[in-house]
Amino acid sequence: MILRADLHTHSYFSDGQLSPTDLVTAAHAAAITHFALTDHDTLAGLPEARRQAEHLGLRLIDGVELSTQWTRATTKRAVSVHIVGLGMTDSAPLEAVLDVQKDIRARRAEAICEKLEKITKKPAWEAVLALAGGRAEGITRGHIAQWMVDAGIVSKMQQAFDRYLGEGKSAHVPLEWLPMADGVKAILASGGQAVLAHPTRNNLTSTALRHLLIDFKAAGGRAIELPAMNEPPATRGMINRLVKEHEFYVSTASDYHGAHMVWNKLGQVPSLAEGQVGVWELLG
Ligand code: AMP
Ligand code: MN
Ligand code: MN
Ligand code: MN
Repeated sequence: MILRADLHTHSYFSDGQLSPTDLVTAAHAAAITHFALTDHDTLAGLPEARRQAEHLGLRLIDGVELSTQWTRATTKRAVSVHIVGLGMTDSAPLEAVLDVQKDIRARRAEAICEKLEKITKKPAWEAVLALAGGRAEGITRGHIAQWMVDAGIVSKMQQAFDRYLGEGKSAHVPLEWLPMADGVKAILASGGQAVLAHPTRNNLTSTALRHLLIDFKAAGGRAIELPAMNEPPATRGMINRLVKEHEFYVSTASDYHGAHMVWNKLGQVPSLAEGQVGVWELLG
């Protein structure tokens, strides 16, 4: 059997479209052998995913994608960094952190919607909440961007980020997530491994990325995701060099959210380069 690992995906417990059951079924159909559900700041979809994975005989790794912020020592500037936790065995330490995160997420969503209601003169909150299945703590900017498309305010999700939701734009609400090192520590305390998600999607210069990797490793992070298939070869080359230099394990991931984000396909993951070792080797 060929190993195919997709260790970063979303269900409708965060901003994915599918239920955990349908997602696991689709993963099985896509010939994925090692699969992780990694909803934003919640473990709520895992029991359902586990039932379906056991039913189909698929290896499910418990996962989460934590929103954190990393403050660069030299500039004191905070940037948003996503950390994927994989293979947690006792979720209690992580749940304590997630309780705070869920609160931050719900309050930030309300603040963004309030700004958008003033700007667009359209009622945002109820519709956004409905898109998130009624779970305020699960609302992401993905849902808000989707509402802006549905309401005819923008024609594409990307436009919502470019014009309203991105950093410095009119409906942006500044970061207040937990520090990256605390996120990594909570994952480790729960028996999991911390993986730096989409390392080239944080709008960092290569120097800043180097500093981030040093801090991430110092906090206990041991793996980073390889760039998605649609990223340029030069990006992959840079990550390959950094993986080698810092002796990171690597993870392969689609960051699948559903058919509405046509650029990520479930199970469409890059291959490991020679000498690279998959993070699944660290998971029991
Ligand atoms: P949040 O965690 O609330 O800041 O929301 C971030 C989520 O928004 C990401 O996980 C993506 O799913 C989604 N997202 C970010 N940028 C874009 C984009 N340019 N187009 C569509 N969705 C995006
Ligand atoms: Mn998302
Ligand atoms: Mn992410
Ligand atoms: Mn993600």
